[in-house]
Amino acid sequence: MTPVTFRERSVEELDTQKVVNIGKATRRKTADRIKASAAYPPMEQMRDRAREIRLHTLANLSEYLEQFAGSVERAGGHVYFAADAAEANHYVSQLAADRGVRSIVKSKSMVTEEIGLNHHLESKGLDVVESDLGEFIVQISGDRPVHIISPVMHMDRYEVAELFAEVLGMEYSDDPVALNAAARRHLRSIFLGADMGISGVNFGVADTGTITTVTNEGNARLTTTTPRIHVAIMGMERLVPNAGDLMVMLEVLARSGTGQALTVYTNLMTGPRAFDEQDGPDELHVVILDNGRSKALASSSAEILACIRCGACLNVCPVFREAGGHAYGSVYPGPIGAVLTPALFGHDEWGDLPFASSLCGACKDACPIRIDIPSLLLEQRAESMNRRGGEFAWLKPGMAAYRRIATNPTLWRGFLAAGGVFGKATGDWLTKLPFQAGNWTSTRDLPAPATQSFHSWWKEHRG
Ligand code: SF4
Repeated sequence: MTPVTFRERSVEELDTQKVVNIGKATRRKTADRIKASAAYPPMEQMRDRAREIRLHTLANLSEYLEQFAGSVERAGGHVYFAADAAEANHYVSQLAADRGVRSIVKSKSMVTEEIGLNHHLESKGLDVVESDLGEFIVQISGDRPVHIISPVMHMDRYEVAELFAEVLGMEYSDDPVALNAAARRHLRSIFLGADMGISGVNFGVADTGTITTVTNEGNARLTTTTPRIHVAIMGMERLVPNAGDLMVMLEVLARSGTGQALTVYTNLMTGPRAFDEQDGPDELHVVILDNGRSKALASSSAEILACIRCGACLNVCPVFREAGGHAYGSVYPGPIGAVLTPALFGHDEWGDLPFASSLCGACKDACPIRIDIPSLLLEQRAESMNRRGGEFAWLKPGMAAYRRIATNPTLWRGFLAAGGVFGKATGDWLTKLPFQAGNWTSTRDLPAPATQSFHSWWKEHRG
């Protein structure tokens, strides 16, 4: 049976090597973020400014959308507002049919993952090739991205080497340079032969109609300038008012996402190729996607739309590190996904995701926009509980018993003493617990209760 809840998926996805790979990569990214932020003294002010800009843009989104659409059209581009995934997909496939497109190259874009664009275009007989190395690996392995900026964070180079040997026919090599070179050779002719290039949009600049994409591989530049048609798909919230505001976003995005001062390729494109220009597409189409965003914007979780998809909150999240991105079932995993997914797509299917959090607050600390993710998770949890008609049956008596014990010093000491006795009897680790608690020990051990409470230790040592 297909797993339908976070818990079921997380059990199914449990794989020690994946957890090790994700743990290593997220810790490295977090260390890089902290180092890059420390090396840039204005970082904290930039975060404040970035938050102001994003919240201001969301508060005035309809005006900025109108301005952006007008600017794109004045620069010679076409704009299409898609209410949902079906409309966006239909627009792109119809455009491809009208223009006789056969092959399409695509740069990494979460919004196209969200709408299942590849699948739709392939169902229309079109060849679509991912040009971001990570997304390319995802595509040829038939996998799904595990992280919003590092799609194959869960794989190591040995797995990629085996895959490339099998699919690309190269001699087995786990040397990253050789693997990169093989992907590059394979993709180069695809870029040159593609009729249409599809990209996401990191930021749209409202007053100029400029589309910004950031990559480290240069693939977005080739995707958007080599084919004769460029289609940019943008979530309707991904705007900034002007170029000055864009610079603030770029300052915080790369440092938070990859620990770089700036991504290697930052592309700013305004309109299609002009009459006197050599490079660029003949046609530019910008598809602005709603797909639940208007509903989210009108809700108490609107702040989540301020996200700039840097991935920092995933890297610090203890749940993401242990469960991995696939356990969320959504293209948006981790803390951002646990709020954004139900906010966009509803609680009937996704109402359990906000519970996949320890509410430790590390996500809020890491977020360059200082989005209050823990509070939004609580909002989403409350919404889920309302929809399921109230709290879990065990919660009320459980919390009442806890309140009774925790507010009575004698009972509390007795409770801790009982835990100590239990800890002595069981050893350092509990390997099998009964009832619901068995969910924990079915996949990992639990430290046994301390044999001595802090309270009694303090009594012994404070002198
Ligand atoms: S919520 Fe914040 S930290 Fe998480 S991806 Fe979005 S901008 Fe980055």
